[in-house]
Amino acid sequence: MLKKNPYNFLKNKGILYSVIAGIAIILTLFLIFHKPLPQYYSKKDFALGTWVNVKVAGNKINSEKLADIAFDEMKRIERKFSKNIKGSVIWELNEKRSIIADKETLFLMKAAINYADLTGGAFDPAIGALVKLWGFDDMNSPKRVPSKDEINNALKGISYKFIKIEGNKISLLNDETMIDLGGIAKGYAVDMAINKIKSLDPKATGFIDAGGDIGIIGPKFNRFPWVIGIRDPDGNPYDIKLQIYLKEGAIVTSGNYERYFEKDGVRYHHLIDPKTGYPANFYKSVSIISDSAMKADAMSTAIFILGDKLPDIDSMMQYDIQIYGITSDNKIIKTTGFDYYLKK
Ligand code: ADP
Ligand code: MG
Repeated sequence: MLKKNPYNFLKNKGILYSVIAGIAIILTLFLIFHKPLPQYYSKKDFALGTWVNVKVAGNKINSEKLADIAFDEMKRIERKFSKNIKGSVIWELNEKRSIIADKETLFLMKAAINYADLTGGAFDPAIGALVKLWGFDDMNSPKRVPSKDEINNALKGISYKFIKIEGNKISLLNDETMIDLGGIAKGYAVDMAINKIKSLDPKATGFIDAGGDIGIIGPKFNRFPWVIGIRDPDGNPYDIKLQIYLKEGAIVTSGNYERYFEKDGVRYHHLIDPKTGYPANFYKSVSIISDSAMKADAMSTAIFILGDKLPDIDSMMQYDIQIYGITSDNKIIKTTGFDYYLKK
C-alpha cells in the first residue's frame, strides 16, 4: 500500500501559489504594456468638388484634430489651384496669361507637364477650353454636345507645349490656352494631407478617400491592409466589382460615371481626349495603384484617354504603377503586378 506523503498537501499548495503569482505577473505586465487598439475617427465633408472621407487614428495627436488638419490642407490646395475660384493661382494664370509662381505652384505645374510628356499628351493640363466647352468645368454649367467648329476652335489652344516655365515665371503662349488641373490636383491634395498628418504624428494610421482618390495614412490597427472596393461602373456607387487590399500608397479611379450627361442615347463624360476633343470611350473605368495619389490621379486620367492606343499595358509598370481597367465591352485589362493587391 502506498503511504500517503504527509507533505503532499503542502507541495500542491506550493504549485497553486506559483500559478497564481505567475498569472498576477502576466496580468500586471499586460496592463503596463498593452496598448488598446487605436480608435478610428471618421470625418466626411465636401472638398475638392467631391465628398471626402478622412478616417484616422492618431498616436500622439487627437484623431479629430488630425482629420481637421487634413481637411484644412485639402481646402487650402483647392483654393489655390481651382480654376473656378476667383483669385486662385490658376484663375490668375488663365486671366493674366503670365504669373510669377511660388515653389508649390511650380512643382505641381512641372509635375503635370511631366505626366503630359510621359503619356504623349493624353493627360494634358492645358485641357481647360475643352472641359469648359462641354460644360464639365463646373457642376452648374449647362452640359451640351458642342459643334464640330467649336471643338476645332478649342483644340487650337490645347497643348501643354503652350505652357512656358522660365525660372519662376509661368506663361501661356497661345491665346486660347486654359489651364485645368482637375485631373491631378485632387491626388496632390490627398498626398499633401497625408504628409501633413504624418509630419505631426508619424504613427497615425487610416486613409483619405476623396471621391475615388484614396491615399493610405497607415495600415489598419498598424497591421492590416485596408479593404478598398473598386466600383462596378454600371452599378450604383455601392456596387463593388472587386476588392483590393492596401497597406500603403494610393489607389485612384477615373470613371465615365463620375460626371456625365446623356444625349440621344449616348453618354458624354468629363474625360476628354486632347487629340479629338471628345470624351474617350475605350474604358468605363481605370484604377491605378501607386506610391503617390498625385501620380495615380494623373495616370488614371491618361490611361483612360489612351485606351487601345496603349497596346502593352505592362509597359506602364516601369513607372511603378499597377493598372486595372474595365473596357466599354466589359473586358478587364490589367498589369501583371496588379493581382498582388487582390490577396489579403
Ligand atoms: P475625377 O475624380 O474628378 O473624376 P479625374 O482625375 O478622372 O477626376 O479627372 C477628371 C478631370 O480632369 C476633369 O474634370 C477635367 O477637369 C480634367 N481632365 C479631363 N480630361 C483631361 C485630360 N485629357 N488631361 C488632363 N485633365 C483632364
Ligand atoms: Mg485623374
